[in-house]
Amino acid sequence: EEKILQVEDLQVTFTTFGGVVQAVRGVTFDLHKGETLAIVGESGCGKSVTSNAIMGLIPQPPGKITNGKVVFKGKDLTSFKKSDLRKIQGLDVSMIFQDPMTALNPTMTIGEQLTEGLRTHHKISRVEAKTKAIEMLLLVGISNPSERLNQYPHQFSGGMRQRIVIAIALICEPTLLIADEPTTALDVTIQAQILELFEEIQKKTGVSIILITHDLGVVAKIADRIAVMYAGKIIEIGTKREIFYEPTHPYTKGLLNSVPRLDLVEEELEPIEGTPPDLFAPPAGCAFTARCPYAMEVCNLVYPVATSLSEKHKVDCWLQDERAKGLFN
Ligand code: SF4
Ligand code: MG
Repeated sequence: EEKILQVEDLQVTFTTFGGVVQAVRGVTFDLHKGETLAIVGESGCGKSVTSNAIMGLIPQPPGKITNGKVVFKGKDLTSFKKSDLRKIQGLDVSMIFQDPMTALNPTMTIGEQLTEGLRTHHKISRVEAKTKAIEMLLLVGISNPSERLNQYPHQFSGGMRQRIVIAIALICEPTLLIADEPTTALDVTIQAQILELFEEIQKKTGVSIILITHDLGVVAKIADRIAVMYAGKIIEIGTKREIFYEPTHPYTKGLLNSVPRLDLVEEELEPIEGTPPDLFAPPAGCAFTARCPYAMEVCNLVYPVATSLSEKHKVDCWLQDERAKGLFN
């Protein structure tokens, strides 16, 4: 399997009036060609900050990548200059956000917005760009594309606008697509159609997808692997089956309590009792200690070493580590 992205020990902080927030505290994962990795967790767990860091979209200051690498096709993006990053953004790496309305420019036609990136990055003719735009609209399921190219965003429904956003994100044939809550603003039927569209497009183009979401129904539908984030760290990662059927971290188990089966699609993450720790002063040990029914003395003091449960399944929890038994209890 060809690795297209390796994120290694990524750490991101934000300086605020209240102090320095450690938003991402050492995140490591990789992504293969044609794979969909879902990053899930409650709001504030660092999943959006992680994806923004990959895209080079952390405003510095107040944000800062304090450690780690984002190796995309063999090159570390964290060492790129802004101008070089901009060349990659939208061309080789594309991003889709939650709200399709803010992603589109209300004063430009759909055709202009579709071809803008194409013409900047590829220097192709107007006619060629238009042909490609029509192809993309067809790909995302918009009929009468040549007429619709001249229309403005407000002339489309919410679901259609998100299809257009996806078409814009994919027109330059990116290697990596990052989608941050791409269906949250849409109703359930449209949401299902958009998820099917992602799958279809992935089959056709081989694009790799990082899907940021708090919605386990979305994850159940299209993820290949799942990374569960808590308090700025990935606490468990594995294939979709491993995470849904053999969740091991007490936090993952709590998240999944409301979704007993893969085919239940409308459930969302049910927050576990208690709140995540303050990331101004994150604990030295496992950040879930205060909420965990199985917490031991060691948990609060030392962060658990990752345990490999299978080739792809890893968990950060002392319960899985034989050494914990003899250590402090
Ligand atoms: Fe619970 Fe300890 Fe495992 Fe953290 S390391 S999830 S506190 S048992
Ligand atoms: Mg978010």
